[in-house]
Amino acid sequence: MQGAREVKSFTCICCPLGCRLEATLAPGGAVEAVAGQGCRRGLEYAVGEATNPVRMASAVVPVAGCLEPLSVKTAQPVPKGQIRAVLDAMLALRLEAPVCAGDVLLADVCETGVSVVATKSVP
Ligand code: SF4
Repeated sequence: MQGAREVKSFTCICCPLGCRLEATLAPGGAVEAVAGQGCRRGLEYAVGEATNPVRMASAVVPVAGCLEPLSVKTAQPVPKGQIRAVLDAMLALRLEAPVCAGDVLLADVCETGVSVVATKSVP
C-alpha cells in the first residue's frame, strides 16, 4: 500500500516579494511539484526546504585577552538539523589574537563540509 502525498508550505525568502510556495511530496519524499513561485529561484528554494533545509549559523566567541568577542559564521549554509551541533562547536572555540577576517577557525564543522570563519579581524 502506498503512503499519502504530503504538501509542505513555505514563504520564499529569496526576494522581498515573499511568494507563498507549496511543494507536493511523493510518498517516498521526492518533490513532485511546486506551486506559487514567481521565478526559478523560488522553485529551487522550495525543493531545498522540502528535502534538505539549510541555514547559516553564527555566534560570538571570546578571544583571549580581548574585551570584545569575535563574531563567527559558517561560510555556507548547513543542514538545519545540525544547527545545534554546529553552534555548540562554535561556542567551544578558544581563540587567540591575531585573527583575520575570513580565517577558517573550524574546517568541516560537524562533518558538514562547511567551514566556520571569522567575520572580522582582531589584531
Ligand atoms: S519565488 Fe522568485 S519572485 Fe517569488 S519571492 Fe522567491 S525569488 Fe522572489
